[in-house]
Amino acid sequence: MTIRVWDYLAEYAAERADLLDAVDTVFRSGQLVLGASVRGFEAEYAAWHDAAHCVGVDNGTNAVTLALQALGIRPGDEVVTVSNTAAPTVLAIDAAGAVPVFVDVRPDTYLMDTGQLAAAVTGRTRALLPVHLYGQCVDMAPLRAVADAHGLAVLEDCAQAHGARHHGRLAGTLGDAAAFSFYPTKVLGTYGDGGAVLTSDAEVDAALRQLRYYGMRERYYVVRTPGHNSRLDELHAEILRRKLRRLNRYIAARRAVARRYEQALAGSGLVLPATAPGNDHVYYVYVVRHPERDRILRLLEERYDIALNISYPWPVHTMSGFAHLGYGSGALPITEALAGEIFSLPMYPSLPRGVQDKVIGALLDVLGGL
Ligand SMILES: *Cc1c(COP(=O)(O)O)cnc(C)c1O
Repeated sequence: MTIRVWDYLAEYAAERADLLDAVDTVFRSGQLVLGASVRGFEAEYAAWHDAAHCVGVDNGTNAVTLALQALGIRPGDEVVTVSNTAAPTVLAIDAAGAVPVFVDVRPDTYLMDTGQLAAAVTGRTRALLPVHLYGQCVDMAPLRAVADAHGLAVLEDCAQAHGARHHGRLAGTLGDAAAFSFYPTKVLGTYGDGGAVLTSDAEVDAALRQLRYYGMRERYYVVRTPGHNSRLDELHAEILRRKLRRLNRYIAARRAVARRYEQALAGSGLVLPATAPGNDHVYYVYVVRHPERDRILRLLEERYDIALNISYPWPVHTMSGFAHLGYGSGALPITEALAGEIFSLPMYPSLPRGVQDKVIGALLDVLGGL
């Protein structure tokens, strides 16, 4: 069978009774939308982070859009982020009517180069949107300094960083609000789509509850436009409550896989992930780099039936759908160079040791023959 970067079937086999009980709990509850499971998950997810508020939403993309709107970002406002991210980060800024502005990433961690932020701020900038990509946090102290100097909101994109820590503090508690995705592959994932926003600001929390519920203050009475139907589903909330209890175990398992890769592949010629000082990495994806990336991927597929992934093959600013942003190729040299050289190794908590061994053996063989 083809070896892939992600698979959930072994985990489902191990957790099936609990997950089916979650489904049954919701179906028997008598309230299928915004009921006890969403309320319970919101309380438990906030408490897990020691955050004041959590609002469940339908996916991570809308978590970013609604959080921007709740923070007061209006059409035409500029939001500074990175192009080395999942396209939804940028789509969500666009959906709020705001204008994405990009800075390049650091050559060691591939995360936002916060040294470029000050020069990217204009009179129209209203927010900074750091993306804690791959499972570790952006360097937040210099980012906060720029935000404070210019009165900007800070929204963390935590879609890849559940449980990651930065100088001891959890991702999601480092800005004014934080957007999470619970897409199945994520470090905390459901069996479908889900998302949430964390915030310590009661007004942002109240705005989010209206925004996800048609812009209504109470049933049938709209107080805010644009309103959305962006509720977290009860089923996913109940599944997430069950899986939240196992989140620390999932993260420990990911770290164990990363340690094996690191030991086996040191000196192989691959550039392995670098963890920035003060960060505890959760390895949402294990990203390596090599100038002969395309050849390596082709040989792994042809000789070993190993189909790896690239996160991400196209920098957002070079895609035709974002041509209106006005960035040509050459605008963000580090981001563009990375896109041609990075690839991701299989990474998920239930990844069997035997599969890890096959991937390591195949990589060493292919790299040795280059
Ligand atoms: C997955 C992801 C999103 C989008 O989340 P969805 O739940 O798929 O809408 C946004 N930003 C980043 C960095 C992501 O990885």
